[in-house]
Amino acid sequence: MSMNNQGRPTGTGSIGSGFTSTSGSALLPNEPLLFEIGDTEHSGVDLPDVEISTSRLGGFERKMPLDLAGLTEPEAMRHYVRLSRLNHSIDSGMYPLGSCTMKHNPRLNEKMARLPGFSDIHPLQPVSTVQGALEMMNQLSHWLMTLTNTAAVALTPKAGAHGELLGMMAIKAAQDAAGQSHRRIVLVPESAHGTNPATAAFLGYSVKPIPARDDGTVDVQAVKNALSPDVAAIMLTNPNTCGLFEPQVIEIAEAVHAAGAFFYCDGANFNAIMGVVRPGDLGIDAMHINLHKTFSTPHGGGGPGAGPVVLSAALAPFAPVPFVRKGSNGLDLVEHAEGGALGRITAFQGQMGMYVRALTYMLSHGGDGLAQAAQDAVLNANYIKARLQHVFSVPFGDYPTMHEALFDDSFLAGTGVTTLDFAKALIDEGFHPMTMYFPLVVHGAMLIEPTESESKQTLDHFCDVMEELALDAKAGNKERFTSAPLKAPRRRLDETRAARSPILKWERPDEALKAAE
Ligand SMILES: *Cc1c(COP(=O)(O)O)cnc(C)c1O
Repeated sequence: MSMNNQGRPTGTGSIGSGFTSTSGSALLPNEPLLFEIGDTEHSGVDLPDVEISTSRLGGFERKMPLDLAGLTEPEAMRHYVRLSRLNHSIDSGMYPLGSCTMKHNPRLNEKMARLPGFSDIHPLQPVSTVQGALEMMNQLSHWLMTLTNTAAVALTPKAGAHGELLGMMAIKAAQDAAGQSHRRIVLVPESAHGTNPATAAFLGYSVKPIPARDDGTVDVQAVKNALSPDVAAIMLTNPNTCGLFEPQVIEIAEAVHAAGAFFYCDGANFNAIMGVVRPGDLGIDAMHINLHKTFSTPHGGGGPGAGPVVLSAALAPFAPVPFVRKGSNGLDLVEHAEGGALGRITAFQGQMGMYVRALTYMLSHGGDGLAQAAQDAVLNANYIKARLQHVFSVPFGDYPTMHEALFDDSFLAGTGVTTLDFAKALIDEGFHPMTMYFPLVVHGAMLIEPTESESKQTLDHFCDVMEELALDAKAGNKERFTSAPLKAPRRRLDETRAARSPILKWERPDEALKAAE
């Protein structure tokens, strides 16, 4: 079998286990690289020869060929369409990836985001010409503050993790302003998303872990014991990553405030409680909301995201610029705030397209519709838990779950099948795997988030497949799992090597040879 420099099979020839001469499968061919389709010696487009008498590049002319693959338009088009067909997406099937909230993205959102008044404006346009866009941002802010009962919101952070950074920067600015700079410790429960301790550490805080109780919730007494005049804040996820609502969240907030610290809430799971619980009523000081999760924007593979942060009255003066404010001639974009401790944390105004999608989702659902969506998400997760708990092992079985169903790997004990093997087998059945090995407090965790957008029929199909797989694993059919996926375009990848030494650049075969020598 011939291999290219990236170690992938290419072209025709004898292919070990394949049945086709292209090693492709029916209408899903084994997709070559652009450079293997069109060579770099030819161009796929006709450009007129240009007479250049004198260069104006001042000696910076390219000396080497550009090495672009010469493809015609249909070749380029087909390449990307074929690649897209190798990918799994929420538009092609259920995507039960816990914590990531892969819900359906209503097409209405897309239609609104493409309105020329939103999509064709420029961030440097005079404010008088973008009043509609500012009004849209204003309305989104209003919805976010109303849903959370908070005093202010910073729209600009471009992801949940970026929002966490901003929220903790606001807390730091408030404490510096109050002469409390000695507060250098941040409490982070063990069940936290990895971004929480990373954020605190990035800002120079030392992270003090808080153990989880046997029931998966935060140990309130451990929080109280850890509080001291050196503690700046607690970063708590609610609902937490075990899919549980923290029952003593108000007691935790009160203890944190009594110690002079702030309560940062990771609100990435807001989709489970929107319209039902207002986090401001629970005593939070800052919380990011992942618009791409809760209010549906196509996301995954690193973007796009938007993580607005709502702030309590105590932190509102430390919000970053820019923000929208009513002025004498309509809406103003405030770019230099009085105080303005933080300045700006993004270029321009943030993810406008996502603001439009989120507001569209809010307006099309209405307040009652959002509450219904949250309740349906919770219902769907509990349905999965109820249907599967006779075969799967449930770590915190005594409680109804929130929007995620959490299983551990004890049902696989003695089968030789791991959580990873099980997830890979799910790929062969046409599902994206659930979240694996997270939260860390549960051994061999499998975290399933169906979201509200799946029908009962889809949930039943998923549960039937999960059940069949679990019974097959228990019946000793280990091979099916350890060799999975058999039907995916790629089998098991060397994930460590892919992460540590990725090949991100195509090299001319002769250069690659030279490099290898
Ligand atoms: C997704 C998530 C984050 C991070 O959000 P990004 O937008 O991916 O940066 C943080 N915390 C929790 C609980 C999450 O689920």
